[in-house]
Amino acid sequence: MSKTTVFITGATGFVAQNTIVELLSRGYSVVGSVRSEEKGEMLKTYFGDNFQYVVVAGFENKGAFDVALKQHPEVTVFLHTASPVSFGTEDLERDVLIPAIEGTRNALQSVHEHAPQVKRVVVTSSAVTLSNFSDVSDPKFKANEDLWYGVTYEEGSKNPSIAYTASKVFAEKAAWEFVETNKPNFSLSTILPPYVFGPQAQDESAKGQLNISAEFVAAVYRLSKIDKVPEVFGPFVDVRDVAKAHVIAFENDEAKGKRIITYSGRFHSQTILNIIRDNFADLRDKLPVGIPSNGDVSESVAWDDQKSKKILGFEFIDIEKTVIDTVNQLIRANK
Ligand code: NAP
Repeated sequence: MSKTTVFITGATGFVAQNTIVELLSRGYSVVGSVRSEEKGEMLKTYFGDNFQYVVVAGFENKGAFDVALKQHPEVTVFLHTASPVSFGTEDLERDVLIPAIEGTRNALQSVHEHAPQVKRVVVTSSAVTLSNFSDVSDPKFKANEDLWYGVTYEEGSKNPSIAYTASKVFAEKAAWEFVETNKPNFSLSTILPPYVFGPQAQDESAKGQLNISAEFVAAVYRLSKIDKVPEVFGPFVDVRDVAKAHVIAFENDEAKGKRIITYSGRFHSQTILNIIRDNFADLRDKLPVGIPSNGDVSESVAWDDQKSKKILGFEFIDIEKTVIDTVNQLIRANK
């Protein structure tokens, strides 16, 4: 018998599926929200009897989670991971900002009104809430848990390159404001990952196009000898550590009311390329050489995230293991 039932929104996602694996391995039961029955049935085949799903379509509508929570009075922990992770859309407000912000507000309102037994809520925010993109990518940037990017809603609604960032800033702010205003029965924690790398929860999901951040590693793996190495760099974390952080955020009382950064270190596309070339003899000759010294990120400034590291209390997976495990999965999945 499981000790606790955890509700997780956006159960199909890269982060969510890895979090479900972590939850089930620790003996929790899980109820996941999905956007269609078909997606729910697919997840059931992956996760088995301790996983149930509920279909919640249109979480930007008020009361979207009411029915699901009424159906599952056993839920005492709520993890909100669902959010549009998209950049190329026609209507930034409709497709990115509103679902992220209203989706968060509606989820918390439903928990407050219909699940008073829920004592812990964790919202997946992002390291992009800490400052603008060039700061967060800069090797000299020293992030800490108190920073907020001062983007405006208007900037987010007009500029495709800022819309996602603004959606995360205003969604996380909406969550903290909700708690401040409504004084619900639950405590809130937020998780702030930078680029999330690492394996998909199932090899099956590693076929074809992956989600945006997982694609960074896959894109380097797919390069051919004559390709230019992409100029992508910044902070990263392994998805398995993000999953663990979501669990510790509701298990550890020290996490109540805290923003928790999950930062492993920095990468450059060339770092990823060097690791693949050094560890996969069969891929070495198919890949470009690039400029190996560009992969050295050892001069980067460490983030000032000790408060988060103390709450989490585990060693983060490094870039080498992230890349090796990811590439091994890509090889298995694409056989
Ligand atoms: P993902 O694989 O694209 O998953 C996104 C999830 O959100 C999916 O379950 C998706 O459902 C759901 N979703 C998207 N738009 C929705 C909408 N309008 N209504 C309802 N559900 C919607 O992305 P991910 O990387 O796992 O992201 C999970 C969370 O982590 C997000 O909050 C994201 O902002 C945050 N995050 C991610 C990264 C990263 O590098 N990946 C970094 C920092 C923070 P469908 O499957 O039905 O589309």
